[in-house]
Amino acid sequence: MAEMSNPSEIAREALRRLAMSRIPPTPDNYRAFYLQITKTPDEDGFPEKSLKAIAAALPRHVPEAARRAQDFEQAVATRQWARVNQAILALAARPEENRPAWGGLIRDLVTQYALHHAGLTPARKREALEHVLEASNTNPDLLHRRLMGLARSWSATPTALAAAASASTGEASQTDAPPSQDLAELVSLLRALLRDGVPALIEDSPSLVEEARGLSEQLTQWDSSESLEPFYKKMMAFTHKLEWLGEDQRSVRIALQGLLQLIIQNIGQLVLDNKWLSGQLAMLSEAFTGHLDVRVLDEVERRLKDVIDKQGQLKQGLTEAQLRLKAMLAGFLDRLSAFAESTDEYHVALGECAEQIAQAEDIGELSEVIDKIVRETRIVQETTAASRKDLDDLRTQVDQANVEISRLQQELALTSQQVRHDPLTGTLNRKGLDEVISREIARARRRESPICLSLLDIDNFKALNDTFGHQVGDNALVHLAAVIKESLRPQDSVGRYGGEEFILVLPDTEIEGGLTVLTRLQRELTRKFFLADSRKILITFSAGVAQLAIEEECQSALDRADKAMYAAKRAGKNRVFAA
Ligand code: GH3
Ligand code: MG
Ligand code: MG
Repeated sequence: MAEMSNPSEIAREALRRLAMSRIPPTPDNYRAFYLQITKTPDEDGFPEKSLKAIAAALPRHVPEAARRAQDFEQAVATRQWARVNQAILALAARPEENRPAWGGLIRDLVTQYALHHAGLTPARKREALEHVLEASNTNPDLLHRRLMGLARSWSATPTALAAAASASTGEASQTDAPPSQDLAELVSLLRALLRDGVPALIEDSPSLVEEARGLSEQLTQWDSSESLEPFYKKMMAFTHKLEWLGEDQRSVRIALQGLLQLIIQNIGQLVLDNKWLSGQLAMLSEAFTGHLDVRVLDEVERRLKDVIDKQGQLKQGLTEAQLRLKAMLAGFLDRLSAFAESTDEYHVALGECAEQIAQAEDIGELSEVIDKIVRETRIVQETTAASRKDLDDLRTQVDQANVEISRLQQELALTSQQVRHDPLTGTLNRKGLDEVISREIARARRRESPICLSLLDIDNFKALNDTFGHQVGDNALVHLAAVIKESLRPQDSVGRYGGEEFILVLPDTEIEGGLTVLTRLQRELTRKFFLADSRKILITFSAGVAQLAIEEECQSALDRADKAMYAAKRAGKNRVFAA
């Protein structure tokens, strides 16, 4: 296209492109088109929102990665391009940090295990290791993080030597088991890891599973007088293969995520009227953007199934209504042609009568003809009256079918959003909450892991409604729900329990952790103000947190959380109490 220089021409072209594109006609989008046409680099446009989203998605599983992510975040926060550049280069230079490094971890663990730590018997170490393996063997990243935590906590404990030194200065110390016993323990632990732990993580690679079991078998036959040298070599080779497998799996996962995103976007573009799909598409897109979590995927699957069931029923209703409409139209056409036929016959009969009149020779013949005309005319009149009534009935039925069809279509669009979710805040509704709570409690019982339930109630909500009106109250609920969702972990859930009360379900969380989550949420709310008529309003809440006791019914834990929440209200509101 020829270069444009006339500002009004450029403005017109920018408007045209904005109208042709499918993006919202906001001032920023208009500006982007304008700059595109004039080929002006966008000097002051700093894509803060997108960069922040990228920062939030950066891995932080090892301290080094966390530090780089923080550097990037700060560069974005201070809006300095040079720093952003540097941070990106630093991130790109260390791709290996993005995946868990198993080799180093296993080495650390083995080293730390072999050391004699004061007050940490091999049995206790083994117990801790087994606990971690048991609790996180379905999630490699989590397993890696927890094993790192374990190695770190062991290395932070003074070794027996240091303890012995302090003992000589008068402090108490515990002696450990002799080294040979430690080694035997370690070998048996490694055997269990190779036999049960590792195969569970790599079950898609049968040859490696076999290798792990072979190594485990070799350790079973080892006796403490033999050297472990041949085993070390094989173990090192095996560790390398594990690392490569981890790398492969990670690339496959990333590629699959990308592919899914593409398909989801594509569906959105292919389906013309995608209102009845928007909920599902948004949900899928959200689920596949971040870290893949079994719980999130479970939840997505359950919700999709529900929506599909409900939509199946609605679609059937819709198809039936459309078929009825078709049948009615076919009937309408039949009627029309029957009517045309009967008027044709009338014309023919009238023609015959005219002929008979022309040829009539006496009055008697004429009166016969007149009788015939009267008869034929009456028949046509009756047919016409009947046809009109039928057509009126048909029109009423068609109108009704149309109303039914648009009602079904609307309902279809709504189900996409509302199954198990509160339409205002998008959090779970009572039904959704009931299901999530029972599922999470069952899971916690199976894994013997802790779980907390929390009830929170907005403070002085009535006053907010009275001052600013119900609509602003509604917006405040939406704001609070958004802040809660942002600050929770993927495995946590939130649902609307009633008017301005919400329930949080926090799996794998002890009471102290639960209190921390709620306190963090309070802090988040002081940072993210709610705006009503461009006035900043601080929303506060009072909350009670209960950790489900062994064998305790869910309702009883909720009751305890409720009592704690009321205690928090009585104590002056804007507080979090443990049940
Ligand atoms: P407290 O600090 O003791 O909890 O006082 P409060 O005013 O928050 O509590 P109260 O139970 O007296 O009032 C709750 C109010 O919440 C009353 C009701 O009108 C309002 N409310 C409930 N559901 C909705 C809703 O969906 N939208 C709006 N805007 N208001 C709601
Ligand atoms: Mg209330
Ligand atoms: Mg309240």
